[in-house]
Amino acid sequence: MRSTITETVTQVHHWNDTLFSIKTTRRPSFTFENGQFVMIGIEVDNKPLLRAYSIASANYEDELEFFSIKVPDGALTSRLQHIQVGEQLTLSTRPTGTLVAGHLTPGKHLYLLATGTGLAPFMSIIKDPDIYEQFDKVILVHGVRYVSELAYQEVICDQLPNNEFFGDWVREKLLYHPTVTREPYRHALHQQRITTLLESNHFTEHLGLPELCPSRDRFMLCGNQAMLDDTMAILNQRGFKKATSRQQGDYVIEQAFLEK
Ligand SMILES: Cc1cc2nc3c(=O)[nH]c(=O)nc-3n(C[C@H](O)[C@H](O)[C@H](O)COP(=O)(O)OP(=O)(O)OC[C@H]3O[C@@H](n4cnc5c(N)ncnc54)[C@H](O)[C@@H]3O)c2cc1C
Repeated sequence: MRSTITETVTQVHHWNDTLFSIKTTRRPSFTFENGQFVMIGIEVDNKPLLRAYSIASANYEDELEFFSIKVPDGALTSRLQHIQVGEQLTLSTRPTGTLVAGHLTPGKHLYLLATGTGLAPFMSIIKDPDIYEQFDKVILVHGVRYVSELAYQEVICDQLPNNEFFGDWVREKLLYHPTVTREPYRHALHQQRITTLLESNHFTEHLGLPELCPSRDRFMLCGNQAMLDDTMAILNQRGFKKATSRQQGDYVIEQAFLEK
């Protein structure tokens, strides 16, 4: 079986100078679980240049979507950011990853904590009706440096709550908390690092939720290594257990990118 396939780019959206999204066609045989990642890229000198990318679309959608950084000298993204509608995107055929609901023990509240492009897997997850069946509340926290990096707000705040099949659930259960660290945004609770929010009782109080507690709350984390390390330290200290490849847990993590 071939380990890579190509799909055709159907849409490219540039959010700002540093972020863009790509949509492609999707063959029905390309299946995945919401929250997984896959290798994507382009041909360079007749060889595929691939990087790991979370799939931002849901597994029932006709097209695939990816949300990408533009690294100025990045081998892939310095080229990929110029891709045009009608061109080919190469994909590996084996999506994988830890940010899947089945890795978590049952709980009532699911916190999805993302920095930057770490939002991508959670866009897939918040489009999953099963998530709203499993959890009473789904809290999406997106931490960025600048307001222009708050991508997908229209999908989160408008399209999903008005979804004809599960919009009622989204309106009742999805809480979205964007936070911006390097310029003013709304009020103090929207200008904090994710770790600072977790350490403050004002955050859960602001959401109308009880204090964090391992018997009730579950977490998925996706972002830079510092956020992951600091958040894990907070969760571990509060008695939350990380899921392993063999055992479900109270939280799961995925690096949004590898530091070099
Ligand atoms: C499991 C996993 C999932 C990923 N999902 C995504 C995704 O959905 N969207 C995405 O844009 N990237 C994602 N990445 C990162 C991606 O694989 C590449 O690193 C990225 O596309 C840049 O590729 P590059 O060749 O241009 O630069 P690289 O040589 O790969 O990266 C150069 C440097 O840029 C920085 N960097 C790379 N990616 C990011 C990023 N996303 N945000 C901030 N800084 C970054 C790092 O310091 C890195 O060392 C993921 C990585 C992993 C491991």
